Amino acid sequence: MTAKTILVTGGSRGIGRAVAIGAGRLGWAVAVGYAGNQAAAEETVAAVQAAGGRAVAVRGDVAVEADVLALFDGAEAALGPLDGVVVNAGIVAPPKPLADMDLDRLRRMIDVNVLGAYLCGREAARRLCTDRGGRGGSIVFLSSIAATLGAANEYVDYAGTKGAVDSLTRGLARELGPHGVRVNAVRPGLIDTDIHASGGQPDRAHRLGAGTPLGRAGRAEEVADGILWLLGDGASYTTGALIDIAGGR
Ligand code: NAP
Repeated sequence: MTAKTILVTGGSRGIGRAVAIGAGRLGWAVAVGYAGNQAAAEETVAAVQAAGGRAVAVRGDVAVEADVLALFDGAEAALGPLDGVVVNAGIVAPPKPLADMDLDRLRRMIDVNVLGAYLCGREAARRLCTDRGGRGGSIVFLSSIAATLGAANEYVDYAGTKGAVDSLTRGLARELGPHGVRVNAVRPGLIDTDIHASGGQPDRAHRLGAGTPLGRAGRAEEVADGILWLLGDGASYTTGALIDIAGGR
């Protein structure tokens, strides 16, 4: 497979880190995006390099337009033109019914998960499309199986943001296909990462994973494998796909 240069937003931890390290094993160059946890980002960079790839850490809040531009500029300045972008950064919040959610929570959820995905998707389109000077490539969005389940009494706000990511994926695939760019999403289920603790439920993936058809939580690497396939040449005829990696949930 041809070596790729990719940007992974939210590459410092969890699924994004697993993608970055997997890309390193393939000898790829990886820009590791992060919001504020520089130590985690540097750890990921070291792990990518140890695996055989090149890597650089780039900071930026995906909900802030200027940060997103700086993220892409920083990645390209350090590593050269991009072939792939994984739009992965995302947040959850503590479980509660919609009736109890305040405006700040709703706004931040939509800003990071929806606006952030649209801004990163836009920058990826600007830089990858062959009609804009790019060399074509692959964009992978992180949706969630929650988009299909609704996450009642837990976080319907989060589920809705991932529904928006699904729509973006389908539409952008049609826009960019003629310009050499494939656009897909993966929809993970209950994956064992820090995100559950950040929503106040550190045991969530294992607790709920036990009740899924495969009887367990997933590992970040199991999602990363699907993302790396979508980034690579083996997925050359796949675009507009929403791929569930959710243990049958
Ligand atoms: P995680 O372990 O909590 O890691 C989140 C990553 O996103 C970190 O690298 C973090 O950077 C970064 N990030 C958070 N907010 C950001 C912002 N505003 N701007 C830029 N970067 C930001 O999350 P994860 O579980 O790997 O989830 C990754 C993606 O998969 C998310 O979109 C999530 O919704 C989706 N997903 C996860 C699961 C699951 O069960 N884990 C299931 C379905 C979908 P710092 O390290 O600097 O904080």
